[in-house]
Amino acid sequence: MNTLSSTKGVLFDLDGVLYIGPHAVEGAIEAVAKIQTSGIQCRFVTNTSTLSLRSLAQKINALGFSIPANQIISAPQATYLYLKRQQHPVCRLLLAENVMQDFKEFIRPDKQVSHIVIGDIGDKWTYTLLNEVFNDLMQGAKLIAIHKNRLWQTEHGLQMDIGGFVYALEYASGIKAMIIGKPSPDFFQIALNDMALKSSEVAIIGDDIDVDVGGGQQVGLKGILVKTGKYRQNYTEASTVKPDLIIDSIADLPKLLGL
Ligand SMILES: [Mg+2]
Repeated sequence: MNTLSSTKGVLFDLDGVLYIGPHAVEGAIEAVAKIQTSGIQCRFVTNTSTLSLRSLAQKINALGFSIPANQIISAPQATYLYLKRQQHPVCRLLLAENVMQDFKEFIRPDKQVSHIVIGDIGDKWTYTLLNEVFNDLMQGAKLIAIHKNRLWQTEHGLQMDIGGFVYALEYASGIKAMIIGKPSPDFFQIALNDMALKSSEVAIIGDDIDVDVGGGQQVGLKGILVKTGKYRQNYTEASTVKPDLIIDSIADLPKLLGL
């Protein structure tokens, strides 16, 4: 009996697990297909904030995967649903153009900003922009971070992610950001509710030991770390997070699930 023998559902991180940049990880397409047809429930949980849900589904399926959009749970989508539940939010949106489309209803240039939403804006960060956001915060705006990731792996190497900017704004303003994506327990709960499974029946596979594995374990999931994507051996060995399993890549997952 291995630790995954009673698994009824799997949450897949996308970036670094299924693909890196424009390339599918070797064996990933076959592995996901095998798990999808086995009766094990699959959901795809991502902090990616560069693409809208529609564009993300298009990208993944163009790579050769067969993943319905309604099985993808993205941090921008969860952010949108959160804002919809607020009373007439007025937002300053630091979002990629592609994602911005879905949030247009929250922009009201004539009104005081009530929420700052921070996602991926690539190299558009400047002191001027940080200072404008800082001043919004000092006037009472709430700080929402789609995620607070440190870094991610691109086809060009490691890149600094938005977490550092979120920390900078928190430090300067003394205001804590609300984190919507992984490792927020609420985010994992959306996926568990959608599958109607208990956390003990579900495993998460990811390349981020803190956000995927550590975040998942905190809500009771089994945490599987892959050695693709942003995985680094020395960072893993120094971490206080201990994955339930560490595997070379997602290609090894079906076998561990007994498929
Ligand atoms: Mg990842």
